[in-house]
Amino acid sequence: MTSGLVIDTRDLGRRAGAAKTVRLTASAPEGIGTEMIGVPPESPIELDVHVESVGEGILVSGDATVQILGECARCLGEVTDEMTVDLQELFLHPGVEPDDEEAHRVQNELVDVEPVLRDAVVLDLPFTPLCRPDCAGLCPTCGVDRNAEPDHRHDDAIDARWAQLTEWSAESD
Ligand SMILES: [Zn+2]
Ligand SMILES: [Zn+2]
Repeated sequence: MTSGLVIDTRDLGRRAGAAKTVRLTASAPEGIGTEMIGVPPESPIELDVHVESVGEGILVSGDATVQILGECARCLGEVTDEMTVDLQELFLHPGVEPDDEEAHRVQNELVDVEPVLRDAVVLDLPFTPLCRPDCAGLCPTCGVDRNAEPDHRHDDAIDARWAQLTEWSAESD
C-alpha cells in the first residue's frame, strides 16, 4: 500500500473507543472517474476523517474534497470543479467474518481509504458534465460555440434550402 491515503492505526490498538482525527492532503492517484470527467492525477485530495477503533475493526467517517476536471457534454469546453464526498466505512480486522470477501480490511494495522474514496467520487460525479448549468452548447447546424456567440443564428432561407436538399437526398435513396 503506497497510496497517500493510507492511515496508520497502530496508535489506536484494538481498544474499542480509541479514536483520532486525521486531516491530510494526498496526491490523487490515477484513474478516479470516467472518460468524460474525473479527478486529475496528482491533484490534491483533502481528507478529513474520524478514525475509531470498534470491536471488529476500524471505523472511518468524514469527508474528502477533490478537484474535478472534465469536458462539457454540450460545448466540449473544460469543466473544473471541487467536490466533497462523504466517507463512511468499517475496515474489518483480519480474521473477522473471514467469508466476507467484499469487506474492506485493516492490513498490518493500516487502512487504505483510496478504494472507498474512489467509489464515493465515481458515484457523485455528474453523468452529464456541464461547464455551467445554462451552457448553450454548440450550434447543431455548424458547430459554433453558442456561449461565445449568443446571437448566432442561420439565415432561414439558407436553412430552408438545406432542408429541401436533405429531403431530396432522402428520396433519392
Ligand atoms: Zn458547456
Ligand atoms: Zn450555426
